[in-house]
Amino acid sequence: MSQPSYPLTLDLTGRRVVVVGGGPVAARRVAGLLDAGASAEVIAPFICEDLAARVDHGEIRWYDRDYLAGDLLEPEPAWLVHTATGSPQVDAQVAREAQAARIWCIRADDAGASSAWTPAVARGTEGTPADGLTVAVTAGGDPRRASAVRDAVLAALDSGTLPVRRVRAVGSAQSTHPPLGRVALVGGGPGADDLITVRGRALLAAADVVVADRLGPRGLLATLAADVEVVDVGKTPGNHPVAQDRINELLVHHARLGRNVVRLKGGDPFVLGRGGEEALHCVERGIAVEVVPGVTSAVSVPAAAGIPVTHRGITASFVVASAHEGADSVLRAAADAAPDATLVLLMGVTALADTAVALLAAGRAADTPVALIERGWTPEQRTTTTTLERAAADATAAGVRAPAVVVVGEVVSVRNRLGDLTAR
Ligand code: SAH
Repeated sequence: MSQPSYPLTLDLTGRRVVVVGGGPVAARRVAGLLDAGASAEVIAPFICEDLAARVDHGEIRWYDRDYLAGDLLEPEPAWLVHTATGSPQVDAQVAREAQAARIWCIRADDAGASSAWTPAVARGTEGTPADGLTVAVTAGGDPRRASAVRDAVLAALDSGTLPVRRVRAVGSAQSTHPPLGRVALVGGGPGADDLITVRGRALLAAADVVVADRLGPRGLLATLAADVEVVDVGKTPGNHPVAQDRINELLVHHARLGRNVVRLKGGDPFVLGRGGEEALHCVERGIAVEVVPGVTSAVSVPAAAGIPVTHRGITASFVVASAHEGADSVLRAAADAAPDATLVLLMGVTALADTAVALLAAGRAADTPVALIERGWTPEQRTTTTTLERAAADATAAGVRAPAVVVVGEVVSVRNRLGDLTAR
């Protein structure tokens, strides 16, 4: 892409933009277009789950068929078209018709044959010095290089420095990577895109392959360049999660092909996330592994609801346990803890009734405060407070669903004075 170009910013609010194609690349483009307020329409005989969900929510219009001549002009002329069909013939036809109609066309298959290109874009985080800033980078047809630079600039802006040297280091590390790839187990934090660590974010920007969970900063996936392979191993509605053995194999498989693999996990990789198993599987096969700790939901989700897991005068310890295997494992964890220790339960919704009964039987007071915090650090965060005795009934009444963190202990009462503590 050595042709001259003219960087420009568009106001797409309410304007018709057509996306031809229904795969993951199209889905990422649609995400960006919707963020920009565009009226996005997808033309494709099949669409991926992400797009289907958007159709269900009425966010986009979907024509479930192949592209037809004239689609760019009917029902009204489009302002812009993205084509990502996987078929060079169809992409070329769309581009030809766009050219004839004077509609700018971005081609996923052949940047050189496009009349427009999307830069790698990052927006300054709200409430930081970079607030309100948009960074757009193009790199002459090398989208991954563009997104690595974009991320480094943004991280530098957020931290108040501009580490030019580090930007260069990212570039050279990529070009001389060893024959074997590496695996980075990256803790993505509880869900907000800006609660990942700077190192996690930088590794993500340099990744060739990202193996992603359902929980964690899913929004960051939309910022990846089109040629980054995203393998979704999380459970989504109507779709079973990929088995752990298969995930382990995937990590080794991609690393053996010389790729930089990021295993992006929710929270911290080594807190009830099977990160240890993934690390062992790779190390035992001679694959270099790095772990990047993350902000665990066990501590951060209660914090978001104004619940400190320890609090002077209430308790100086907390226990984190999985309720996935049922009440017995929770009881074992609680039995070894101080009587006033805060109990933090992950994967605790399904077994909540059994767990509450077991804790009561083991001597915890019926009026012990309990908080159920769903979807922490997302716009849908919701907290239900109750007591151990009423927890199961109140959870049912409120329709509490996973993912949620369950907090049992007097610290829950601090919420009465603090309320939610997220800035969102
Ligand atoms: N490694 C992760 C935990 C994985 S287990 C971590 O350190 O956070 C998955 C459980 O984490 C979910 O069932 C839920 O109990 C909890 N969880 C993770 N993210 C959450 C969020 N944003 N809101 C509420 N609970 C969350």
